[in-house]
Amino acid sequence: RKPDIECKLVVLGSGPGGYTAAFRAADLGVDTVLVERYATLGGVCLNVGCIPSKALLHAAEVIEEAEAMAAHGVSFGKPKIDLDGLRDFKGKVVGKLTGGLAGMARQRKVRTVQGVGSFVSPNEMEVRTAEGSRLIRFEYAIIAAGSQAVRLPAFPWDDERVMDSTGALELKDVPPRLLVVGGGIIGLEMATVYSALGSEVTVVEFMDQLIPGADADLVKPLAQRLGKKLKGVHLKTKVVEAKAVKKGIEVKYEGESIPETALFDRVLVAVGRSPNGHKIGADKAGVAVTERGFIDVDTQLRTNVPHIFAIGDVVGQPMLAHKATHEARVAAEVVAGLKSHFDARVIPSVAYTDPEIAWVGVTEREAKEKGLKVGVGKFPWAASGRAIGIDRTEGFTKLVFDEETHRVVGGGIVGPRAGDLISEIALAIEMGAEAADIGLTIHPHPTLSESVGMAAEVYEGTVTDLY
Ligand code: FAD
Repeated sequence: RKPDIECKLVVLGSGPGGYTAAFRAADLGVDTVLVERYATLGGVCLNVGCIPSKALLHAAEVIEEAEAMAAHGVSFGKPKIDLDGLRDFKGKVVGKLTGGLAGMARQRKVRTVQGVGSFVSPNEMEVRTAEGSRLIRFEYAIIAAGSQAVRLPAFPWDDERVMDSTGALELKDVPPRLLVVGGGIIGLEMATVYSALGSEVTVVEFMDQLIPGADADLVKPLAQRLGKKLKGVHLKTKVVEAKAVKKGIEVKYEGESIPETALFDRVLVAVGRSPNGHKIGADKAGVAVTERGFIDVDTQLRTNVPHIFAIGDVVGQPMLAHKATHEARVAAEVVAGLKSHFDARVIPSVAYTDPEIAWVGVTEREAKEKGLKVGVGKFPWAASGRAIGIDRTEGFTKLVFDEETHRVVGGGIVGPRAGDLISEIALAIEMGAEAADIGLTIHPHPTLSESVGMAAEVYEGTVTDLY
């Protein structure tokens, strides 16, 4: 069969990985086609992930702040929630960004094809579009097919009251009783939103800690605050059965901390995401996919087939947008003939909860498990003028140092804006900074960012009298 489209590069999927790769390749003069099954570009992150969740979390933050101000002499009264207005705002935020991408694709002459793509040979991809099948012949391919929410079979998914994160972001209503299954980042971000809007939220987590990837001390201030705000947070517990009844979703639990409530108006299942590697005809191109659906790549993001690359969620953890975009640039540059490699020392993680939790590099737990010789400098925000001024003294900043070189190898922050503050630590690690470099850097006063400099000074012993 004769191809309908010929190109040098086809990119499968238009999330942060796919659009970044397509745009970078086009900028380097590569004739590029971008295949996306949905009408809008941007993938999970822009449409049903990072961006809409943060737009809603902003509303949650303002509601919580306004409430807290009552204790400081300023009262606003009970918030009036106009769900249509809130949904509209979220939609506009998403639309602005996805619309921007469409314009950027046009500007660069990246051809976009809307349809479901699947390899049919090592150099051909078939795209099923609304107008029928189109065959693309390519020299290079970049797979950026992303991931999707895991759907536990114990739940009645045909009932719309059972939701994954996409359903929860639709914000159909504010359910009086919401059960969140999974105490990871996505589950807790949505719990924060719904709780601020007025839902009574119960969280059930199978592990012995919320946000299992982060150090336990970072999670503690969040767990304490959630303990006060939510109906209940139940660790070492799982839902073993859920059934739809007239009044709601009825669940059965197993574990150490069984919630009082078994009937909920809505249930959000947020127990992780699985990669889309098995859904793209990879075998027809000879691309190896692991049992779980991941695609193994080298530091140039090449799969086992040298002219086919893979990036983003489909190549493995951490499944984060900023990892996808950095991998994307490398893959695009290699296709364009540059000698690029993915060589990030660290990739920061952030939970945009209240308080936020952010961490990067070696965690204390990891150091212990691997027997690394590390030392920790910890600065409690109770000693920060700025944190006291915003009445958020539960936070802290810690830095993890290699005991031999005194170089910073990791760090964690809990408190408002931790996600913004963590970048300085990521930069310090990438630059090979030592404790003295960070401590001697003059940070503006009074800021929360001072806490990073102070944590280094605590480690060095140059600051001791914190209270
Ligand atoms: P995706 O964004 O998943 O994009 C893949 C694209 O490929 C999709 O558009 C899909 O439709 C398309 N596609 C797949 N198969 C085909 C096919 N066969 N044919 C055509 N098209 C196809 N990450 C962060 O860094 N920060 C956050 O704050 C954050 N918040 C999140 C909140 C939520 C609720 C969720 C669900 C995720 C969040 N993430 C966050 C994770 C982030 O969204 C992902 O890491 C990121 O989107 C991965 O990018 P990607 O390009 O690999 O894939």
